[in-house]
Amino acid sequence: MNMSEAGTIVKLMMDGNLDFVHSTKVNLWEGCRTKQEPKIAAVMCSDSRVPHYIFNIDPLNWIFTIKNIGNQLSTCEGSVEYAVNHLKTPVLAIIGHSDCGAIKGAITDYSKESPAVRRELSTLKKVITPYSHKGNYQMKIDQLAEKNVDAQVAYALRKFGDENILVIGMMFDFIGSYGQQGCRIHITNLNGKTNVDDIYTVAKMHGIKNLNFRRIS
Ligand SMILES: [Zn+2]
Repeated sequence: MNMSEAGTIVKLMMDGNLDFVHSTKVNLWEGCRTKQEPKIAAVMCSDSRVPHYIFNIDPLNWIFTIKNIGNQLSTCEGSVEYAVNHLKTPVLAIIGHSDCGAIKGAITDYSKESPAVRRELSTLKKVITPYSHKGNYQMKIDQLAEKNVDAQVAYALRKFGDENILVIGMMFDFIGSYGQQGCRIHITNLNGKTNVDDIYTVAKMHGIKNLNFRRIS
């Protein structure tokens, strides 16, 4: 019997894991078998075009990744609280991206979707509805994604403002909406600040220079 597409994929996964084990990469778990100490809590869209290797940081014991549609806090609040309150990650990053299907879904009629999907789109719709945007469709989607990141950062600051944490909003642009070469990450929000001077003040407090700060909305 021929292997189904799903069967082929599962075989690929398991063969890949064997290669992984045989290439002794398991040694990397040596220092963190019974405890994790991640530095970044990353709330990212589930979109397969937004993998965490865009930071070029080995995510093992470094990035506590929380993925959901539309990189929202309200639909994964417990996971974020766990990272911030218990694991004490110094950074909470909210990472939106270009061409986000969740944003597209939230601004169209999703009444025929299942209750679970409607629930996760309605929380997104609530934060982007106040903004009206002109211009071409693709740009509008990316502007709304940026506004969504702002809303999620604001929500995070209301929840964790007293914690010793830097909340950062980012947009991963693989379309070119930010006028730079593809796949750049743009800082769009730093601890709730969205204008250049304020961003640089916050950045300076943390000793950060040369930020790629850029906004489209
Ligand atoms: Zn998305």
